[in-house]
Amino acid sequence: MKESEPGKALVKLGFPYIAKYNLTFLVIQVAVIMEHKITYAGQEIVFTLQRKKVKNINLKVRPDGTVNVSAHSRVPYDYIEKLVWNKAPWILKQINHFKQKQASVQRIKYETGDIVYFLGRPYPLRIINAKKKDMVCLNKDEIQLYINNWEDPSMKEQLFYSWLKEEAKPVFADSLERIHALVIDFGIARPSLTVRTMKTRWGSCSRNKGKITLNTELIKMPKKCIDYVVLHELAHFLYRKHDSRFYNFLSSVMPDWQERKKTLEVK
Ligand SMILES: [Zn+2]
Repeated sequence: MKESEPGKALVKLGFPYIAKYNLTFLVIQVAVIMEHKITYAGQEIVFTLQRKKVKNINLKVRPDGTVNVSAHSRVPYDYIEKLVWNKAPWILKQINHFKQKQASVQRIKYETGDIVYFLGRPYPLRIINAKKKDMVCLNKDEIQLYINNWEDPSMKEQLFYSWLKEEAKPVFADSLERIHALVIDFGIARPSLTVRTMKTRWGSCSRNKGKITLNTELIKMPKKCIDYVVLHELAHFLYRKHDSRFYNFLSSVMPDWQERKKTLEVK
């Protein structure tokens, strides 16, 4: 449903009709998004179904674990339910994946004494009231946040992450250079590198653009793990899917890749 349509009608119809049309709009909204439930292998899957003018049936699992389906009103409900049922193993896998990610996201208040990780090592934080410029210093045994607005956790997080990102860039670039040298003979052109803070993945690759993107969060992990993610993304330039050829390739270049991957999953 296009939300703008009733709005446009309101402008033309003038003030006395606003209440009425708003009400109609609300009723339609409630009517088209419905919650449904199926049980697959003893597990309940709740999904919302939104009826709208779409060509395909769209199925999405969001990072918060909710499942959304949208389909044209002409598609019978039975058909949609069957599709959700067929896709149930994939849906459950996604929900699980997001749950694990959420649990592993470090939730701290950015207070003195909180532990943060950098290249696999834990450091206690020290929050210091900045007299001049906000900045972050990494010492031998602590990470210091000099900040003016020291009572606001979100400001501290922002400062910390912008610092992490800057620290990550040369480390990731170095990893790319070393790992790329190991695979250059397979005809993989050296991709460009982007660093971005992402919620659900360590890295991604765009074959078309010849680019890999790494998550800022990776800088919290040991170098060995960063190298593994870089190799994983480079391997996608040869093999699109995670199939046996993909994994064989990883093993031939980095025999202990599974161990490194496990470290990433635990953290
Ligand atoms: Zn992959």
